[in-house]
Amino acid sequence: NLQDKLDRAFKVLKGQGNITEINVAETMKEIRKALLDADVNYKTAKTFTDEVKQKALGQNVLTSISPGQLLTKIMNDELTDLMGGTVNDLDISQNPTVILIAGLNGAGKTTFSGKLANYLRDKKGKKPLLVAGDVYRPAAVDQLQVLGEQVSVPVYVNRESNDPIAIAKEGVAEAKRNGNNIVIIDTAGRLAIDEALMTEITAVKEATQPHEILFVVDAMTGQDAVNTAKTFNDRLDFTGVVLTKLDGDTRGGAALSIKSVVNKPIKFIGTGEKMEALDVFHPDRMASRILGMGDVVSLVERAQQQFDEKEAAELQKKIRKNKFDFNDFKSQIQQIKKMGNMKDLMGMIPGVGKAIKDVEIEDDAFKPIEAIIDSMTPFERENPDAIDTKRRTRIAKGSGTDVNEVNKLMKQFADMRKVMKQMSNPAMAAKMMRNMP
Ligand code: GDP
Ligand code: MG
Repeated sequence: NLQDKLDRAFKVLKGQGNITEINVAETMKEIRKALLDADVNYKTAKTFTDEVKQKALGQNVLTSISPGQLLTKIMNDELTDLMGGTVNDLDISQNPTVILIAGLNGAGKTTFSGKLANYLRDKKGKKPLLVAGDVYRPAAVDQLQVLGEQVSVPVYVNRESNDPIAIAKEGVAEAKRNGNNIVIIDTAGRLAIDEALMTEITAVKEATQPHEILFVVDAMTGQDAVNTAKTFNDRLDFTGVVLTKLDGDTRGGAALSIKSVVNKPIKFIGTGEKMEALDVFHPDRMASRILGMGDVVSLVERAQQQFDEKEAAELQKKIRKNKFDFNDFKSQIQQIKKMGNMKDLMGMIPGVGKAIKDVEIEDDAFKPIEAIIDSMTPFERENPDAIDTKRRTRIAKGSGTDVNEVNKLMKQFADMRKVMKQMSNPAMAAKMMRNMP
């Protein structure tokens, strides 16, 4: 499946600290293949992978997340954007709001009409009227009547007429008479797109001036779904897409392609035959579905927020042995300058956060601190306790600071070390925590 393929693609990146031109190009090729297999069309897959590559290149990778994970996150964000970014609601503000349902035979129009009526009545407090506009198959009218009964929504039917345009108009008039604030017009489809169908549905549109035209398409038809969507959109200029039969493990690739080809929002997805099996379309959820990775994304997000855990563990080991020295201190400062403020960073080291709450650490004090550390010899950096008055004077001179500043740093460093040492002892840490406000 897609997940396996992505895993394989990511293997190329595993163990590499940076995402580079070479390893990302290789990976993107694999991902493009995987997307094509998931019914995403070629042009969309290509644009997508180019975009992701651009974003991924040169990104630094924290050691606690693999380049593959970071890439997954970038891909997820990109997919979400491609599918519209956010939820796109129906416009149901008119009274009555007319909603025209269009699509091929068997796409799920009639079923969706029932589901939508149910949803608007149940979740939005509306009073919908269903209109049976499929005049070619008597069974289609019966089907809608059964669904209407199931969801307690009235259905306008005219079995005497075989004129879908007239029936649609009658339906809207009926709604106005009865105080229905939503009119859902179910229409006939064809097995494939033909001119008669297009002319007819366009005429229904003109006659009823719908506020929403929803194009219903079977997600299982993959690439065909995209072509059908394009043809319908060229003629109807619909306002939104409904993807049906996305229950189980149906691939969601069609969602991505349709959005990028017709540039209309997907508004709902059908996830089963029952009247309740309707979901508002969430681009982020569909992105995760396409990538098949649900949890990976939140994992990566969490990892990105956290201080590099591997380094933190090493640091803790040093602290426990009282070996935290000026080299560590300096590398911490470098991290901090990249990531934010000192206290925040120190706070992410397990057990240290609360302890340094009252320790004075100023951000703008970095420059002299770095200068001072740079002026120390390797021996001094590793053995802070050996830095006596004579050495301090020399360090001050070398760093262009004065002895007071060096002393201040030595004191801060000693305080920090003491706190860290105490915090690394669980019993001591517990005792200190109890004394914290
Ligand atoms: P129409 O010809 O476009 O009106 O399509 P129908 O509404 O009659 O649906 C055709 C078939 O697809 C029916 O058997 C429905 O029960 C089924 N169907 C519709 N929507 C879904 C869905 O979201 N999931 C599943 N599994 N079946 C669906
Ligand atoms: Mg039907």
